[in-house]
Amino acid sequence: MDELRLDGNAAAGPLGEVFSFEVTTAEYACRGCGRAGKLGEAMVYEVRDLGTIIRCPDCDSALIRLAHNRGRYLVDLGGMSYLMTG
Ligand SMILES: [Zn+2]
Repeated sequence: MDELRLDGNAAAGPLGEVFSFEVTTAEYACRGCGRAGKLGEAMVYEVRDLGTIIRCPDCDSALIRLAHNRGRYLVDLGGMSYLMTG
């Protein structure tokens, strides 16, 4: 494999494209049970003063945890084995 090692700033272009997609039609795979589906069909829980948790409708595992605090976002995508744009 031919790889070129750069610092993290080099990923700004491709990551900017990936993270500006239509979320509701994006497809995920749950790391807990393997279910694949559209994010728009997952279960969303708003937790006051903490943020948002998106859970798998089959096994209830947290797919995405989103916290917003002091103007900054923290996103935990660890509950998914992948997320694919729709
Ligand atoms: Zn699941």
